[in-house]
Amino acid sequence: MSEKTVLLSEEEALSLSRKILLKKGFSDDFSRAISETVIAGQKDGCASHGLYRILGCINTLASGGVVPDAEPHIEPSSGGIVKVNANGGFSQLAFSLGLPLLIEKTKENGIALLAINHCVHFSALWIEVEQITKRGLVAIVCNPTQAYVAPHGGSRPLLGTNPFAFGWPRPGNLPFVFDFATSAIARGDVELHEREGKQIPDGWGVDSQGQGCNDPRVVLEEGALLTFGEHKGTALSMMIELIAGPLIGDLMSYESSQHDDGKGALPYHGQVIIAIDPAFTAGNNFEKHLSRAETFFSLVESQGARLPSRRRYESREKSEKYGIEISENLYLELCSLLHD
Ligand code: NDP
Repeated sequence: MSEKTVLLSEEEALSLSRKILLKKGFSDDFSRAISETVIAGQKDGCASHGLYRILGCINTLASGGVVPDAEPHIEPSSGGIVKVNANGGFSQLAFSLGLPLLIEKTKENGIALLAINHCVHFSALWIEVEQITKRGLVAIVCNPTQAYVAPHGGSRPLLGTNPFAFGWPRPGNLPFVFDFATSAIARGDVELHEREGKQIPDGWGVDSQGQGCNDPRVVLEEGALLTFGEHKGTALSMMIELIAGPLIGDLMSYESSQHDDGKGALPYHGQVIIAIDPAFTAGNNFEKHLSRAETFFSLVESQGARLPSRRRYESREKSEKYGIEISENLYLELCSLLHD
């Protein structure tokens, strides 16, 4: 039997989310920014990064894992580097503060890097990627999380779920974007399986003995998730630990777990956002080169393969037309937060 759902307009979803977050103690700015993020996720059919995340934000605040009224500030930096200190708040306001300077430096130098430090991060990365591609720039974004994932050949959590995203601007079209966890699956999806009493598929996680395990609770509490692609996913995940950790003077996933000290808050660490201007790297004829990319995308699609993000864009279009779909159970749980 399929799960019952309700449809909300964007205004209704925003209003519900903002009211809950304000009631729980977040500043007006954070209540708005978090709401916009989770509603973007819900609209695009990314349930694990949609309105469900409000519960994690509230738990994180209750456990002391986030500063609800933090004010990010720009740190001194030189060359093509922008550094923003989130001062213990969620990443959204730090990203908004750093973005204009990142774009300015990219347009000056051809490439720039925004390092966000000391943030709590929970969102899907395509939201940040699309802010960059819509300015005609290429984007690469990644961050560590907490120690939830065993390295290939190991059995204990050490790596984060470490998302990695790439965006390519497509003039007159929605960008080419892929955005994935380097774990076999985002942790939020395993949590959703647990909430819904469902087993998880083979290959997502192991128990405390390193044996394949289909019980989401055991994987989350006693075992570990696995990286995708065996040693290849592990290597990519390790790169993310390094470039969004020590390279920017911030925590790796296992250090973030130590910082959390059992509170169970959303992860606290840094994030790396790189922007590249094709007008510099491809030269005067960059528009011609971008059109070659269009031919390439058509060749991919002509084989029946789909471009990453197409499912998301279709879901966005549907949400804009008919309303944002949310599970009835989650909707009732969120409404109850306004009255407890
Ligand atoms: P998925 O495996 O669901 O999807 C990964 C990417 O592959 C998406 O861009 C998706 O596009 C694309 N894709 C999926 N199926 C196909 C297909 N058949 N053909 C072509 N492309 C395809 O994502 P994950 O579960 O790994 O990650 C989900 C989200 O979790 C990400 O947005 C990530 O940023 C987020 N996350 C965030 C973390 C954080 O710390 N903030 C931590 C971990 C994950 P489409 O969406 O259109 O299906």
